[in-house]
Amino acid sequence: MRILLQFPEGLKQKALAHAKALEKDGNEVFISASPTFGACDLALDEARNIKADKLIHFGHAEFHHVDFNVEYIEYRIDAPLTLLGESLAQMEGAKTISVMTTIQHIHQLDEIRKFYEGNGKTVVVGTPYGFAKRKGQILGCDIGSAASVDQKVDMHVYFGGGMFHPLGALLATKKPFLVIEPFENKIERIDRLRDTFRKRSMGKVMRALDAKRFGILVSTKNGQHNMNLARIIKERVERAGFDAEILVANTFDFDSINNMLEFDALVNTACPRISVDDIDRTRKPLLSANELMEALRMKEELKAGRRRD
Ligand code: SF4
Repeated sequence: MRILLQFPEGLKQKALAHAKALEKDGNEVFISASPTFGACDLALDEARNIKADKLIHFGHAEFHHVDFNVEYIEYRIDAPLTLLGESLAQMEGAKTISVMTTIQHIHQLDEIRKFYEGNGKTVVVGTPYGFAKRKGQILGCDIGSAASVDQKVDMHVYFGGGMFHPLGALLATKKPFLVIEPFENKIERIDRLRDTFRKRSMGKVMRALDAKRFGILVSTKNGQHNMNLARIIKERVERAGFDAEILVANTFDFDSINNMLEFDALVNTACPRISVDDIDRTRKPLLSANELMEALRMKEELKAGRRRD
């Protein structure tokens, strides 16, 4: 069988060993060298181009069904739970908490839940919206496990590495938010970041108020492709009297996009995190669809105000 292997960045150092094992079994094996952001980003074009019979995608659970033979091999990592005891001191007044994590630690969520229940907490585990598949699992674009239970809890607790995942959940909720970072031996309340990101978002909207030409970003990645939304946005921008064009890429190279000097503002329809995490990489304001709508609304208000003057 001809197989293409695909690894996210953190697992690329394991590629050779997996390739060798599959070759030993008589397969012809290739390794994707492209950057990989998630199961939303399957190397389907590469697999089809080399006429692979199968794509093996490591490190993520299935995102959505695709029309290709894909095997998903999730990676589980046992993180130390030693910080759980210490985290109780930061939960004063929080009787009911939600717990969430990434797919790498999802097998530890039950132990985490039992620990907190054993220490007098009521623990709620939320349900993802659909891209994430397990209860309590979050993705940067599926924070249902937090948002679906926001009304019921006094505090959210994220267990896992990095800020990418908890940040999305933080911005979609209102309750106090605790991050337990087992690899950096750190416990942190991140509630204050809500305000920081709200101000950054408003800053982008304000910068877009003078924009006349909008570039709408569409990714060809299987789980990020949203041409329908891009067309709706284009039509909406044009109806407001401005220009819009749809810019297509697989992975956005912001150096290239920065060369497109004619556009005054960019609108993201791909991974929702691009318009949160990558805004410092573009010269022009990089808006989400909601931020664009807010900018258009404010532009119309300003125009009406000028007319009244
Ligand atoms: S957050 Fe972005 S990169 Fe991650 S799974 Fe969702 S669409 Fe893909």
